[in-house]
Amino acid sequence: MEDIVIEVSNLKKAFGDNDVINDISVTVRKGETVVLIGPSGCGKSTFLRCLNGLEPIQGGTVSLHGEPVEYGSGSLYKIRQKIGMVFQNYDLFPHMTVMDNICLSPLKVQKRPREEVRQEALELLERVGLKDKADAYPSELSGGQKQRVAIVRCLIIHPDIILLDEITAALDPEMVHEVLNVVLDLAKNGTTMMIVTHEMAFAEAAADRIIFLDGGVIVEEGTPHEFFKSPRTERAQRFLKTFSYTK
Ligand code: ADP
Ligand code: MG
Repeated sequence: MEDIVIEVSNLKKAFGDNDVINDISVTVRKGETVVLIGPSGCGKSTFLRCLNGLEPIQGGTVSLHGEPVEYGSGSLYKIRQKIGMVFQNYDLFPHMTVMDNICLSPLKVQKRPREEVRQEALELLERVGLKDKADAYPSELSGGQKQRVAIVRCLIIHPDIILLDEITAALDPEMVHEVLNVVLDLAKNGTTMMIVTHEMAFAEAAADRIIFLDGGVIVEEGTPHEFFKSPRTERAQRFLKTFSYTK
């Protein structure tokens, strides 16, 4: 089907004899927000890294719009232009302004016209509430502001999907919301995303689908309503209790 963005089939990933991902299959369609949750160490980050070819895998396939994503393959650099990724620790270049950080990839890799890119950067900065920070350096920004810049830097390449890995985990509590609100707005506006988070209220509000991972497999998958209101498995119930998020 043409609206499938990412298709993961029977993915297996191990580090030595540590089988982290044991046969996971997931399809993400255009416009969907899929939220991955699960206990620490269950392989969520590893899974996201496999989606854009950052890890060699031991079995299965990953494809983006039908094109194989393979660790070490020559076409990976093209695929990375179609998959945006934001991590826990904003990796902005410290010696470059916000504007230059955002425009780097569209100018140098995508070779788009400077004025058009600058204009779009300003529009995106305005959308995340940071229009007045275009000329600031990362060291002049709070953690929450840096993460919003990192999101803009992703959006400006017009990726087919954005992967977000615990992007608020390193932030002070008062900054968590300003970042999650931006992501929620993207979700409501049909941005295709796969999100790893421990923020359960946000997961419930943003997700079209929740995937609960544990022990290297998908333990449960369903709508946020199904998952949070009536988790079917004992493992998911136990997990949600640790967040005091059972309803
Ligand atoms: P999560 O993001 O769900 O907390 P990770 O994907 O970071 O989990 O880790 C899953 C498992 O893989 C853990 O057992 C972790 O120790 C292991 N792991 C992750 N990255 C590496 C690596 N580069 N080398 C060896 N083991 C790793
Ligand atoms: Mg992780």
